[in-house]
Amino acid sequence: MRVGVVGAGHAGVEAALRASELGARVVLFSSEPVLPYFRPKVVALAFGQVELAGICLRPQQWYHEHGIDLRLDSEATHIDAHAKAVTAGGREETFDALVIATGAAPTLLAFVQEFPNDVIPLWGVRESLAIRDRLGGTRHLLILGGGISGVESALYAREAGLDVTIVEKMNRVMSQQLGVGAAGVLTRRLQKAGVSVVTGRSVETLSKQDGRLDVALDDGRELVCDLILTTVGTTRRLRLFEQAGIKIDRGIVVDEYQQTSVPGVFAGGDIVQRDGVRTATVVRAHEQGRGAGDNAVAFIQGRKLAYVPEPTSPLLFKHKDVEIQAVGPTAGDGLTERVLTNDGETVYRAVLLENSDPSTDSGGTLRGVQMIGSHEGFRPLLDSLGKPWQEVTP
Ligand SMILES: Cc1cc2nc3c(=O)[nH]c(=O)nc-3n(C[C@H](O)[C@H](O)[C@H](O)COP(=O)(O)OP(=O)(O)OC[C@H]3O[C@@H](n4cnc5c(N)ncnc54)[C@H](O)[C@@H]3O)c2cc1C
Repeated sequence: MRVGVVGAGHAGVEAALRASELGARVVLFSSEPVLPYFRPKVVALAFGQVELAGICLRPQQWYHEHGIDLRLDSEATHIDAHAKAVTAGGREETFDALVIATGAAPTLLAFVQEFPNDVIPLWGVRESLAIRDRLGGTRHLLILGGGISGVESALYAREAGLDVTIVEKMNRVMSQQLGVGAAGVLTRRLQKAGVSVVTGRSVETLSKQDGRLDVALDDGRELVCDLILTTVGTTRRLRLFEQAGIKIDRGIVVDEYQQTSVPGVFAGGDIVQRDGVRTATVVRAHEQGRGAGDNAVAFIQGRKLAYVPEPTSPLLFKHKDVEIQAVGPTAGDGLTERVLTNDGETVYRAVLLENSDPSTDSGGTLRGVQMIGSHEGFRPLLDSLGKPWQEVTP
């Protein structure tokens, strides 16, 4: 019973573990030269707050003990899904079932190609170590992208004594997780920490003179910096899978068993699209990877495939006194934000209600929660998602 797992991140390692626990011989292909690691920690790695050994998911020995043949630096360059064959390092191997877990890839701005040493996407170990290498000679760091990784980077960079500016093209930071009110309070917290925040703007031109980068924003404003870190979104590289004969859309399309359009080929983590949705969290990658590993073995043994649950995956962030908790949509048809606490400066707590009655300010179903500077009541609210608001005690 042989299972091939392509991609050794959160989903791939979990799939490999589950398949090996169920008695399969597993080959785990990784395109990276280092042991699989906890990706969110690459931010701390970039700013010297943690070492590579401290972010590995498992020690080298663990793979050996679990009968997992981990192949580092082994990018899968060709897959034949129907034959369940993977080519890596010029060698083709055939399996009884496959799991694809190749994750997402960073959106690369044109400037990255033009100035590869000065404009670095925050993504993996390689990029983090490149950023870290440059910090010694950096006084002003520009961060393009005001999502959670941009915010976290800015806080670390301030602690390292750098001047920091975040430029975010949306009209607020963390627009995917926070509404206007919560994002406003977070912005003030960042400013209090010494971070300059520019929203609703993007970089128009970039040039380099005397070792410094001249940046022109689209409102004509000019900034000078020494290094640019980008964290501007993700993309999915799908050509390999399209060529493999697997159905793709915005990701690899999977069903509730994490099975792709090809029987016996499963997928999990950031690369997949399930029910039209692509998720990008460690918790989901972990669960989907585990489910894919489980079902890969079930497929080989001719057993019924098991439904793979999709756990709620809230954002829980704490960096010293900057705390962010969020779950659910930030806005949408029929959704109203009800503010529970707002001191305008440090604490913001709000819920998103669906179909609440604005005239009586009551009713509705709890769909989302956003909190800055406090986590008071977050857990109970998280557990109450989908319940009528009258039945919830905030
Ligand atoms: C900077 C940053 C911060 C983040 N912070 C958070 C956070 O705080 N909380 C959270 O929940 N999520 C966070 N995320 C998202 C989270 O890291 C991803 O959701 C998670 O890593 C997805 O796991 P995965 O296994 O699908 O993919 P990945 O962990 O990306 O692993 C995929 C692996 O497959 C490899 N691969 C790709 N193609 C091939 C190939 N052809 N052959 C072999 N190997 C291949 C890749 O190199 C990679 O090693 C963050 C992401 C980033 C980049």
